[in-house]
Amino acid sequence: MLKVYNTLTRKKEEFKPRKDKEVGIYTCGPTVYNHAHIGNLRAYVFADTLFRYLKFAGYKVKWVMNITDVDDKTIRDSKKAGVSLKEFTEKYEKLFFEDIEKLNINKKEFFKIPKATKYMKEMQELVKVLLDKEIAYIKDGSIYFNIQKYIDSGHKYGKLLKIDMANFKRGERVEADEYEKENVQDFVLWKAKKESNEPSWDFKIEGKNYPGRPGWHIECSAMSRKNLGNPFDIHTGGVDLIFPHHEDEIAQTEGAYDVPIANYFMHNEHLLVENQKMSKSLGNFYVLEDITKFGKPLAFRLLALQTHYREKLNFTKDSMLQAEVALTRVYEFIRKLLWVEKTGQKDRVSFLLKKVEKEFSVAIADDLSTPRALASLWESIAKINKLIDEGLLNKKEANLFYDFFLKIDRVLGLGLDEVLQPKIDPTIVGLINKYKKATVNKDYETKDKIRTEFNKLGYKIEDTKYGIPRITFLGEK
Ligand code: AMP
Ligand code: ZN
Repeated sequence: MLKVYNTLTRKKEEFKPRKDKEVGIYTCGPTVYNHAHIGNLRAYVFADTLFRYLKFAGYKVKWVMNITDVDDKTIRDSKKAGVSLKEFTEKYEKLFFEDIEKLNINKKEFFKIPKATKYMKEMQELVKVLLDKEIAYIKDGSIYFNIQKYIDSGHKYGKLLKIDMANFKRGERVEADEYEKENVQDFVLWKAKKESNEPSWDFKIEGKNYPGRPGWHIECSAMSRKNLGNPFDIHTGGVDLIFPHHEDEIAQTEGAYDVPIANYFMHNEHLLVENQKMSKSLGNFYVLEDITKFGKPLAFRLLALQTHYREKLNFTKDSMLQAEVALTRVYEFIRKLLWVEKTGQKDRVSFLLKKVEKEFSVAIADDLSTPRALASLWESIAKINKLIDEGLLNKKEANLFYDFFLKIDRVLGLGLDEVLQPKIDPTIVGLINKYKKATVNKDYETKDKIRTEFNKLGYKIEDTKYGIPRITFLGEK
């Protein structure tokens, strides 16, 4: 049973999906105007771990992550760069996917990756429903969400924040996408075009055109509804998105359709650098490339998992160096397990395996407690390493642990199944992929052939209980 901390209730709750075996997750994706920084990457490692875990637990998971390719920042900076909005945002979108791929977040795993500029119709439809219900109004060519009207029609504003509405000043408006917590104001749904060279879209309402562009919040309400329906199961993002972004997403969807946008909101805490907020002026603003001087990208993934997603993560160069050492140790341990050749029946470790299996699943199911899960793994690795060094572990037992570690790596994503895949040789990688495919297709003839080819190349490939083939380099001992 999975328990998750739901920002809507401020409690850890049992996770109950809307459909029996299917889960819909919506993650607020990157605003593509710059390289993603390591704080952003923490947010996606968290969402990916949640996605992986739900898949691992047997759900069919529809994971949707949007790309914000039109907002104040993308418009401002594309203009500065002197290129079109499309060219500008496509560049950063590509860089974003290159970065997350290095963290084992696979683009192919997403159900949909909607881009805001492709959802104008859906956004305008939503705005029209709000106008029809008089929860939105037009002012100087822009369209705003009327918070007082929303409240008067029986809704509650401030579901995530628990805002004191007594301090809410009626009639004030804000046009920027991001605004301060003290300012609960009518927010913008559609922004009128102001300068002639500004990117804009037509918006016809009752025969009149309102050229402009969407506000940031409406983008996510429209894209999540179109791809997952309402309510979908889990909405994720960093804590900075609680207000105003998610609060306003909730209000738009509920105001228009009288349904909650999502049943659970899960928010990751921020990453700090040397205990400070990352900022360019402090010189502590890191992107993935900056930190890979100190360790592999997957060491950063490990580092992110070592802190619970609801805790602040204090990044330091030292912590990255340590994560690199820890990851290398795990890789070495996996290789070592495969080199165990000792035969024999005496069972020394089944209790240990049961213990770590249980501790791992209990920890992860407890609001994704990856630090606890990892602590349990480290403990078992130390014990098994000792047994190997003392020549007390037999091959059968070593294989069981190998299989277990590869199985749980489907949740952790630390690249353990790649440890033995010699990346240098694309022939081998190609053969492994063919082998995996043949396994799925139950094509035993092809599998036999691949096995023989592997032997010729100096490797052994075997099936394991969990469907991930085990590859042994016969030459290495
Ligand atoms: P943005 O591209 O600014 O919309 O941010 C993308 C994601 O990164 C959002 O979920 C943010 O909440 C999250 N985020 C931004 N800064 C940090 C940080 N320092 N630590 C963790 N997550 C962050
Ligand atoms: Zn969003």
